[in-house]
Amino acid sequence: MTAEDNDPDAALALTVAAVWRAERISCPHPHVLQSWLQGGLDGGAAEFVAFHLGDSGCPYCNAVIEDLKAREDEAAQPVLEDLKDRLLRSTVAALRKHKR
Ligand SMILES: [Zn+2]
Repeated sequence: MTAEDNDPDAALALTVAAVWRAERISCPHPHVLQSWLQGGLDGGAAEFVAFHLGDSGCPYCNAVIEDLKAREDEAAQPVLEDLKDRLLRSTVAALRKHKR
């Protein structure tokens, strides 16, 4: 005799997860996710998003976050390149001054 097939908690959790995933009842708007990513949320809102992405593991919102991160990385690239360029130039200038 086994009790494995008859676990009401597991069955309920499965149902809740299925309904929740199908309906995306509590999904925050992508704009909210973006604000959260940029540190623009605080208190309960930030906690809710963190819980939604982490503990709830919502595949939809995690995909949105991945997408936003990828775009941010792209946007950040030129700035980094520019900074490297300026650093290099100021180093060269400093070396030239030193040599005389
Ligand atoms: Zn979601």
